[in-house]
Amino acid sequence: MEKYIIVIGGVISGVGKGVATASIGRILQEYGYSVIGIKIDPYINYDAGTLRPTEHGEVWVTDDGGEIDQDLGNYERFLNINIPKKNNITTGQIYSRVIQNERAGEYLGKTVQFIPHIPNEIKSRIRESAKGYDITLIEVGGTVGDYENIPFLFAIKGMEREIGKENVIYVLITYLPIPSHIEEMKTKPTQQAIKLLSQNGIIPDIILCRGIQKLDEIRRKKIETYANIKREYVISAPDIKLLYEIPLNFESEHLGEKILEKLCLKPKKMPDWKMWMEKLDNIKSPDKRIKIGMIGKYLENGDYSLKDVYISINEALIHAGARLKIGIDIEWIDSGKLKAQNSKLKTLERYDGIIIPGGFGIKGIEGKILAIKYARENKIPFLGLCLGMQLSVVEYARNVAGLTGAYTTEIDKNTQFPVVDILPSQKKIIESSRYGGTMRLGAYAANLKKDSLVYSLYEKQGRIESDMAQDLSADRIGKVSNQFVIERHRHRFEVNPKFVNILQDKGLVFSGWHIRSDGTKLMEFLELKDHPFFVATQSHPEFKSRFLHPAPLFLGFVEACTKKLKVKSK
Ligand code: GLN
Repeated sequence: MEKYIIVIGGVISGVGKGVATASIGRILQEYGYSVIGIKIDPYINYDAGTLRPTEHGEVWVTDDGGEIDQDLGNYERFLNINIPKKNNITTGQIYSRVIQNERAGEYLGKTVQFIPHIPNEIKSRIRESAKGYDITLIEVGGTVGDYENIPFLFAIKGMEREIGKENVIYVLITYLPIPSHIEEMKTKPTQQAIKLLSQNGIIPDIILCRGIQKLDEIRRKKIETYANIKREYVISAPDIKLLYEIPLNFESEHLGEKILEKLCLKPKKMPDWKMWMEKLDNIKSPDKRIKIGMIGKYLENGDYSLKDVYISINEALIHAGARLKIGIDIEWIDSGKLKAQNSKLKTLERYDGIIIPGGFGIKGIEGKILAIKYARENKIPFLGLCLGMQLSVVEYARNVAGLTGAYTTEIDKNTQFPVVDILPSQKKIIESSRYGGTMRLGAYAANLKKDSLVYSLYEKQGRIESDMAQDLSADRIGKVSNQFVIERHRHRFEVNPKFVNILQDKGLVFSGWHIRSDGTKLMEFLELKDHPFFVATQSHPEFKSRFLHPAPLFLGFVEACTKKLKVKSK
């Protein structure tokens, strides 16, 4: 029988449900179980693809082209598995499917109602995703008490009745504030969250108590008394500096064994955290630190600026640093502030490496191009991701290949040299205003140039694929030689095939390309010779970086940054 762990948040949002869910999964893997995660997003959007980054942070992209909430990213980073888009369930998808079924006459003339049709659809989606795994973690988005959660909690409670309580456990993640004027950790909001949850017929099996400090015995006892939950199931989860330390922190209170016991399971093996701890130690006491300049749009949300939009890149850098024992300090540079001949541009000199992440729209574009030029000319290690690659092509075309005014047609439709252009298929989509889920999304294969830096980086990490036994559909694989790599994508524009030869003749090396079944070649990687590290990709390699398995390009980049450090200190 399949087993489920339902993770629900109480008190406030942003208590780290996603990371807690991922950590629980990681622990259970150490006990020998296969696990998978499902994220429920109770919003009506069909997916996260059309959400503004300021609304919801970075959009996560799955192999099969889903545009999803970032939590799936946490699951993949911790669990080292590829999670498909069906594992993200939104209210929009549930209603859309039920309405489609109704239109197709599948309910045989019955009145279609909230109960039973909506919970039934939720249950069938959950069970579909759980198939083939020992344990399924389901993170219910939002906070208990939200109207939007109710259908999902109702469905899950129904599933519990059908498959038995021994197969479903509930983990409540709450927050215990310490108001500054009383300097005491308060349990009342947690008590209320428990009460709200009980209105859905759910009593938590385990409570994870988030807070800036550890939970003390007095408060643990208080929760025990008010929630009627034995104190050993009330787990302290204080703020912690390193995300990847959370599983170990939970394990210090034997969370894994407690969960297994509640699910009537026995450990299949005993945990071995050696590799995980080694990586953590590398982060805690690195041999040296490097400073990375991340040049992007500075996103403001009211009085706060959102750094969440580049979360996967931050994590990918941390993963590479953990492998190489290098500390990573990221500084955010607003590309809008970089102008030719201003002193701000000169300050780029102090970075050991520069990244231009993905992005959309005109804001700050010229500043990014200037930064690329600076990195190229001053031999600062450079990594360009998606838009970062497109702008590297623009910069090279303008400043090396002599194509003055070259541009991407995303910014200037009338440029004389459209070195980056929209694909004809994408043009049609845009003309009919279909914005949701219509980019080139998800994993695609790229053939690599054998004697390139990119090839050697992927080869070193064992990331060159050579068999076709991939889960990917034929159009995602395209035409490949027997050695290729797979990375995820999210874009509409491409290096214009018409300019590839011109740029190559001027020294730009395209080190990887996807070949569509109709023969169209799409450039996927570029690099420069005579530069310590100048690499860019049309893909988002950050989506395939995991804590124990860093992404090859990020490893290469971080390593190159440490070398710049050496030159400097000579
Ligand atoms: N705006 C560019 C495109 O759509 C790049 C997208 C990205 O960086 N993810 O092609």
